[in-house]
Amino acid sequence: MQKNKELLGQLERVIATCHNCRLWRGATHAVPGEGNASAKVMFVGEAPGFNEDKLGRPFVGRAGELLDRLLVRNGFKRDEVFITNVVKHRPPENRGPMKDEVRACLPYLLQQIQIVNPKVLIPLGRYALEVFIKDKPISEIHGQAYKIGSRVIFPLYHPAAALRSAAVARIFEKDFRDLPKVIRGELATRELEVVSRDKNQLKLI
Ligand code: URA
Repeated sequence: MQKNKELLGQLERVIATCHNCRLWRGATHAVPGEGNASAKVMFVGEAPGFNEDKLGRPFVGRAGELLDRLLVRNGFKRDEVFITNVVKHRPPENRGPMKDEVRACLPYLLQQIQIVNPKVLIPLGRYALEVFIKDKPISEIHGQAYKIGSRVIFPLYHPAAALRSAAVARIFEKDFRDLPKVIRGELATRELEVVSRDKNQLKLI
């Protein structure tokens, strides 16, 4: 645990001065992620937004408030899970991260997964989903549990999408209620076909 904290701390220092893509130029702070260094559950969002950039912490704006509410409602404390994003610096105007930016930042997410070693990985929305499961729309596979090696991927809609649409909010809340079951291994999982050419996917196992 202490070791994991140290490793995450080292990684944070690297991320803070990372210039591997253009995003650092427009950002105030890097947002590496935070939480329990040995969490069973890791949430992966898209990218820091305005509030996250100001504070250097993930999910602290309106989407974060919704995420916090659902965590508490379903019996979790925010500090028992780990929360991070696909890219660690805020894209300008809150646009989605570009492919080359995701590629440049991905090694950090993969290292965080290796250090924290969560059993359940929760991509929030399509940008995070694309990292773990290729070519499947979030609208099709949200709320389903996929086994990949020793981990389970449980994709959910992005909380910001739930804030924009009452219909998505209902689905997001319903899917979230299954999370305790996913952690206990009580929700049926599908084996995910691992694409052997996909080196990132292989590193998740
Ligand atoms: N949206 C994200 O995807 N990540 C954050 O940290 C905040 C909002």
